[in-house]
Amino acid sequence: MKLRFDGVAFDLDHTLLVDNRLERVALLDLIVRIDAGASPLHLSLDRAGIVADEELSRYRDEDIDIETMLRRFVERCGGGGGEAWAPWFRQRSLDLVPRMVLPMPALRRTLPALARANLRIAALSNGPSPLQERKAAQIGFFYPVLTSERIGVRKPDPSAFELLAATMGLKPQRIAYVGDDPFLDIAGALEAGFVAIWFDGGSKPYPADLPPPTATIRSLDELPSLLVDPAV
Ligand SMILES: [Mg+2]
Repeated sequence: MKLRFDGVAFDLDHTLLVDNRLERVALLDLIVRIDAGASPLHLSLDRAGIVADEELSRYRDEDIDIETMLRRFVERCGGGGGEAWAPWFRQRSLDLVPRMVLPMPALRRTLPALARANLRIAALSNGPSPLQERKAAQIGFFYPVLTSERIGVRKPDPSAFELLAATMGLKPQRIAYVGDDPFLDIAGALEAGFVAIWFDGGSKPYPADLPPPTATIRSLDELPSLLVDPAV
């Protein structure tokens, strides 16, 4: 049996692209800059990298803003006033996109095939604007991108998916949502009434305590045959 839909929507990071942790690079760049100024920080970049990883995890998982993340990060590195670097950090992250963002293999075959089948296409991503939009453009994804910073709600909250469906002009049941995160993407999409396709990146098994995805793929190449009935 073929699944047939009117639209397909995607998570961005680790589903359509990888950004090679460009925000981590921007944070380490920030430490080098602060250390070169009036108040040296006296720590190694390896140590700063450990702190960066921890603070970026909190930033993503706990829904805190960039200013708070920067204040905590710089404080833990021995400095102060990190929040004042927010405009610089946002710009530095944008500047890193062309060198660090890579499309997932098969993306450039798959997207045109889905568009040719007249599926409506969009993305829903937890993350800042305009960074997530810039990352999408870098891989040639020129469809609507909803970011949590712009819409004010994060996955797995069903209202994020409801906004996505409204943006696409489709009922949730007619949209397949594709993502790599079992909790944020799959549980969230299912809760909102979407069909949910898990992109299995190969690093972890699907958690037994979460509702199972409607289907699982290991390459974006598998999508057209899942979503499009060749008889149509
Ligand atoms: Mg993801």
